[in-house]
Amino acid sequence: MKHNHDSKSRGIVYLVGAGPGDPGLLTLKAAEAIASADVIVYDYLAGHNFVDKANPDAELIYVGKTGKVHSVEQVDINQLLVSKALEGKIVVRLKGGDPYVFGRGGEEAEKLASAGITFEVIPGITSAIAAPAYAGIPVTHRDHASLVTFVTGHEDPSKDESAIDWSILARNPGTLVFLMGVKNIENISKRLLAHGMSPDTPAALVRWGTTPRQASLASDLEHIASECLKRGLSAPAVLIVGSVVKLRKSLSWYESKPLFGKKIVVTRSREQSRKMADKISRHGGEPILFPTIEIVAPIDYGPLERAMETISDYDWVLFTSENGVERFFKHFFDLGKDIRDLAGPIFGAIGPVTAKAIRLKGIRVDMLAKEFVAEGILEFFENQDLDGKRFLIPRAEKARDVLRDGLIKKGAMVDIVPVYRTIRPSGDDVDTIRNLFLNKSVDAVTFTSSSTVDHFADMMNGPDMSNLLHDTVVASIGPITSDTLVKYGVNPSVQAKEFTVDGLIEALVDYYDKGRSTELIP
Ligand code: SAH
Repeated sequence: MKHNHDSKSRGIVYLVGAGPGDPGLLTLKAAEAIASADVIVYDYLAGHNFVDKANPDAELIYVGKTGKVHSVEQVDINQLLVSKALEGKIVVRLKGGDPYVFGRGGEEAEKLASAGITFEVIPGITSAIAAPAYAGIPVTHRDHASLVTFVTGHEDPSKDESAIDWSILARNPGTLVFLMGVKNIENISKRLLAHGMSPDTPAALVRWGTTPRQASLASDLEHIASECLKRGLSAPAVLIVGSVVKLRKSLSWYESKPLFGKKIVVTRSREQSRKMADKISRHGGEPILFPTIEIVAPIDYGPLERAMETISDYDWVLFTSENGVERFFKHFFDLGKDIRDLAGPIFGAIGPVTAKAIRLKGIRVDMLAKEFVAEGILEFFENQDLDGKRFLIPRAEKARDVLRDGLIKKGAMVDIVPVYRTIRPSGDDVDTIRNLFLNKSVDAVTFTSSSTVDHFADMMNGPDMSNLLHDTVVASIGPITSDTLVKYGVNPSVQAKEFTVDGLIEALVDYYDKGRSTELIP
């Protein structure tokens, strides 16, 4: 490659492997290239996982192909890459798996090279390795296979002009991995058998490997095609032939995860959904984000700002949510104040997550409610004299009054100031989500506060909620949220023991662990 062009003025093309599906398999270098890109040209199998890593201003161009349907011809893709680079753009050409494994990445690189465009290749993890790995099949193993061969299954092996020497493949003592082979699976297996490969050679198919939709199936060479047909497995899938397939029985770690294959709706606000979604994915589930809450500024910052001016006059500052903490400090610092201005009051929190958020601001938490609800705080103050004590509670504009009433009853003076407001989002995705429920394509729905329940009911049309959720596992973060669900005629099947998101996920995992069969198919 000649590097005699200034890459800034001439642009650059990164040929990037996006990995096979699991967003965690995107390499750091790939993520960096995506973040720096002006233009991202991506395929069907590169999926949409990268979008949150891209610059919001980046131009996203889909040139996907599925099977025979090419939305953009290869020559036009080549031309696109060249012309965008000539405009001086940073171009990422994103492909599923690895760009140089059956991805026509080599051809694109040749075109770039001959047009004098600077390019770099960022290898990705190919599905030829990752899909078997997630299905419990190591492609090599000292006792089973000392070589592995990647083969395109795209060619119809019954055609004479096949570039593949099937007699060599059939005698191959290692693992064969066929990509793009599902449609031709019958011909592939017939050819191998015709060339003398043993009919009882283990064979497996892995569809949508490394994603929550992964499905795998093991059989032998003689029966794999009919089994595939029976199960209706279609592309994208890899076919693995060789004795390593036998290891799947003991090494299937991914499909045996407790939430594997479960579609789980997350109703909290988009900002707060991230961590929860990650946790669901880590347990093998597929999070579906349906924010029923949007967190916005309070209508009037006046009360909060007045409280901030006289903050050292308070004896206690109590936070009831992580959000409250974040919003409070953001506004506090925006006003030009710093933590030295907070000397005086004692800080308290409901729940460990809220407490941690306070500590991260550099402030000790001297009171942590045992029970993660307002009643827990009241319990803490049970034997204390609060006569004349001043409390500041920065929290949501609309919230339960239990805490305030309880403290006032004990003689305290309580200022509740709104630091944020939760509203119902515009909900462009309501119809899509409602249909998922109606079609029974959702396994579970999680509610992390009473507002998520109220808003969900509202968005889905209140009275229908119990019908809508009839066949869905409903998971609640704690008793107050559960009570709200019951008001809508919904009995949650799962309630967290510890009233946190972690507790909720743990409860879901327990729920599925109990009802789960550990049998693999077949
Ligand atoms: N460059 C890609 C392969 C592109 S060819 C890579 O390195 O993975 C497309 C074929 O890849 C599909 O027909 C299928 O055989 C395979 N494939 C891609 N993603 C897959 C996945 N998540 N699970 C199983 N097979 C996959």
